[in-house]
Amino acid sequence: ATLSNQISAGEVVERPASVVKELVENAIDAKSTQIDINVKEAGIALVQVIDNGIGIAAEDVPTAFLRHATSKILTVKDLFNVTSLGFRGEALASIAAVADVTLETATESGLGTVAQVKGGELLSQHTAAVRQGTQISVRDLFYNTPARLKYVKSQQTELGKIVDIVNRLALAHPEIAFTLRHDDKLVLKTAGHDDLQQTIAGIYGVATAKNMLDFQGEDLDFKVSGYFSLPDTTRASRNYLTLMINGRYIKNYQLAKAVLAGYGSKLMVGRYPIAVIAIEMAPLLVDVNVHPTKQEVRLSKEGQLADLLTTTIKARLSKENL
Ligand code: ADP
Ligand code: MG
Repeated sequence: ATLSNQISAGEVVERPASVVKELVENAIDAKSTQIDINVKEAGIALVQVIDNGIGIAAEDVPTAFLRHATSKILTVKDLFNVTSLGFRGEALASIAAVADVTLETATESGLGTVAQVKGGELLSQHTAAVRQGTQISVRDLFYNTPARLKYVKSQQTELGKIVDIVNRLALAHPEIAFTLRHDDKLVLKTAGHDDLQQTIAGIYGVATAKNMLDFQGEDLDFKVSGYFSLPDTTRASRNYLTLMINGRYIKNYQLAKAVLAGYGSKLMVGRYPIAVIAIEMAPLLVDVNVHPTKQEVRLSKEGQLADLLTTTIKARLSKENL
């Protein structure tokens, strides 16, 4: 079991940011309203995620670390019919195969469970006073897979990827209050008041959020809405585009290109906008889940959606005479 967990860990746990993503998605699935993330040394020394969600019952703790153990939906063809972010039951097993994991969890405040799993082995489990929710601390990532550790880039690169994924998850969940700390320094904080513009302020700054334009558009198949800024020389990449489909953060090159096309000639070399775009559509129009980390998606009617994005942004800019 340990070997297959290490193999699957290679797919799911590529780098510290993957650990952050999986743990935060679990916290979101657990209906948390507050999620606090602490990382040390860009996540290699520690990734800790603390939530106030539904917790894990003592008897379910060992199974939570088994591969393909999921308490979530199972027989799904279409990823976007799944209401939870996770459903493969791979993440915890994969992470615990390549790190030293401490879990503290309780389904209600009072007595809960503290467990330690290292290199795939459940080392201990006991009952203790724990507040409601789950705290998972992942230490010494890749301690037993030196080859993988070698692929981890500089701390700055890895931290950048962590911040990036937390940004996206926070933008996709304005109803949840997030904090992210690196080496005890606060990196980001969102309000959790279910207000997208306020969440954008927590991530990109209050002044930036205030200057962004809100927009909405729709056709027979799609509804798009969100906020976008004008291109700015301080942003040299399209990394500031966040696309969400039915509440899930996705990556899609064609759609990102379509958003930028809406700016027309206002988009000059080396100047990029911030855009946070929520797309609603019938789940059937999302084809398949092409990768275990579930970020890349294929869409039917992608061209139609791309056109809608371009024309909606173009129209909103011209309404401001921009
Ligand atoms: P998946 O999310 O695909 O179900 P994971 O390996 O990520 O699989 O998690 C395994 C199981 O552990 C989940 O199905 C869930 O029951 C439980 N779990 C993990 N993290 C949390 C959490 N933060 N709060 C409550 N339950 C959790
Ligand atoms: Mg999960």
